Amino acid sequence: MNKIILQGIMYDDKSSFLKGPALAPQKIREHYRSPSANYFAENGLEIAPDIFDDKGDFQISSYFDIEEITSKNINGKNSILTLGGDHSISYPVIKAFQKVHGTVDVIHIDAHADLYDSFEGDPYSHACPFARIMEEKLVNRLIQIGIRTFSKHQREQAKKFGVEVIEMNGLHKLESLELNNPVYISLDMDALDPAYAPGVSHYEPGGLSTREVLSIIQSIPVPIPGADIVEYNPTRDINDMTGMVCAKFLKEIASKMIENNPQ
Ligand code: MN
Ligand code: MN
Repeated sequence: MNKIILQGIMYDDKSSFLKGPALAPQKIREHYRSPSANYFAENGLEIAPDIFDDKGDFQISSYFDIEEITSKNINGKNSILTLGGDHSISYPVIKAFQKVHGTVDVIHIDAHADLYDSFEGDPYSHACPFARIMEEKLVNRLIQIGIRTFSKHQREQAKKFGVEVIEMNGLHKLESLELNNPVYISLDMDALDPAYAPGVSHYEPGGLSTREVLSIIQSIPVPIPGADIVEYNPTRDINDMTGMVCAKFLKEIASKMIENNPQ
């Protein structure tokens, strides 16, 4: 069986409001190994540490080093799972990913569309990665789920780039979502309602439940060559609640990668 490449990107320089997500990769690993839980995913697969080709956690001094590091860690055969970091990491990660795996569809689960042309003067802010990704045509379809903070500008951006948006107030549209190509999952932890995941920088009430996110992941019928889990902010967490949710998503995404990917 092909191992899943695991990398941690310790980076939160592009966070507009609070720092903290740089601490997330190590915390997620800690919670994943917590003796309070086991390694079994809900599909019956055991996601023990030897499932991963673990490249370790990387400290980042310059934003585009993320692309270079990912390029060194990636190959065309194995799926890659990245632990962020703030959401700005997804642009350089997907840039490296696209060169090796080609142009796939993206399922982006988030309270925010992250489509700003520029935010507070920075086109690489964590509010902007999907504008850069769409401009450079790094992905085929971009499907956003859970959005509940659309500004006028971002709605226009979504229209301009042909983004398929399933807003939080229209979640029933998930039922008619059809997927035919491999997908990359970009999972921003603030997609969850703060009640389920208080360890994030931006609280946006009225969000997804842990079970709803699990259902989205578990119902993906196509190969998943890549994924990232971003925006966990351990400095805001309560009793490691959000850390354990991240660890659960790590196991569930990994198990789905194994289940769906041709070996
Ligand atoms: Mn985001
Ligand atoms: Mn967000």
